[in-house]
Amino acid sequence: MGEKRPKGSPGKASVNNESLTPLLPFAAEKVAQLLLDWYGQAGRDLPWRQTRDPYRIWLAEIMLQQTTVTTAIGYYQRFLESFPTLEQLAAAPQEQVIDLWAGLGYYVRARNLHAAAQVVVHQLGGLFPADVAGLMQLPGIGRSTAGAVAALAFEQAAPILDGNVRRILCRLFALQEAPHSRAAEKKLWLWAEALTPEQRVHDYTQAIMDLGALVCLPRHPLCPECPLKDLCQARSSGLEQQLPLKQPQKQVPQRHALALLIQWQGRYLVQRRPARGFLGGLWEFPTLSLDGQSSVADSLARLMADYAVQGKAQALGRIKHVYSHFRLELQLFRVPVAGLAAMAETDGRSNWYTSVQLETLALHGAHKKALEYLGE
Ligand code: SF4
Repeated sequence: MGEKRPKGSPGKASVNNESLTPLLPFAAEKVAQLLLDWYGQAGRDLPWRQTRDPYRIWLAEIMLQQTTVTTAIGYYQRFLESFPTLEQLAAAPQEQVIDLWAGLGYYVRARNLHAAAQVVVHQLGGLFPADVAGLMQLPGIGRSTAGAVAALAFEQAAPILDGNVRRILCRLFALQEAPHSRAAEKKLWLWAEALTPEQRVHDYTQAIMDLGALVCLPRHPLCPECPLKDLCQARSSGLEQQLPLKQPQKQVPQRHALALLIQWQGRYLVQRRPARGFLGGLWEFPTLSLDGQSSVADSLARLMADYAVQGKAQALGRIKHVYSHFRLELQLFRVPVAGLAAMAETDGRSNWYTSVQLETLALHGAHKKALEYLGE
């Protein structure tokens, strides 16, 4: 049964929701205090921690969703050099935002960042919402990111449940369920909420993020160094390596396409996809779906005709890539041309780039992988 929760003392962390206390096998304050003490000695000094500006905190949180801290730091600094204020981000063309994001992947984040900046500037008078409900109205902000911005910028006692926190809670409470199942999700949020203190919530939020990044590591948690080791149920059961349980793989359809790498004077033709829709604003080589009735040879001939390209196309290989809702197998063909393809001369969304320039272009998944074939 749950341990009786001691009253919070001034300056110490105290829990914001007493009704959740029976969910816990230990005092919530104890977890918060252990984390805060540890954070005082071991917490990381990161660029976005020196500010309470919601714009900068939000930007960092979005970048960190699928990117390591080491990679995100450079992007964060370059992004702020181009867009020092929310107003400047909102006023920029979407293409510029996407191009700055090149290499970070998951480009929907860049599109949502731009769209959210426009909402805040044009509909909210330039003021970020200060609570979770308001933040969740903005494009690309889910409950955990909203919680992080509310806690870090506005000191709101809002829980977060990012990948690091999810892993810690699965272990701390020895949750033996697929961590993204509906039932597990509900428990995890209740635990996250119960542990979040009302005071020092900024530091607590950073502390639990750092614990996941530095100590409660995905494969080999460093339990002897962990401030929560005496409370952790996974550790006491010897399950810290097994938890969280693996999420069952989602079944997604298989699609096929071919891409034409049209080469002219050491450069390749690429095109930007329309701003709206799937992979909007990203670059790709000329492409055609192979999921209709046509053979590969017929499809290749059609794609070459579309671009007024003649000559013998060389098969380079096949790329496999998993997008959010389908798997793609992309067959690559290269064809050298003597003159500019007619379409590329007139279409403002097409351009010719060298392989070096393509490395820093915002190509989407499979087409980014195609760059490995350019040198062959
Ligand atoms: S004791 Fe180990 S498994 Fe438990 S929270 Fe700490 S690092 Fe993670």
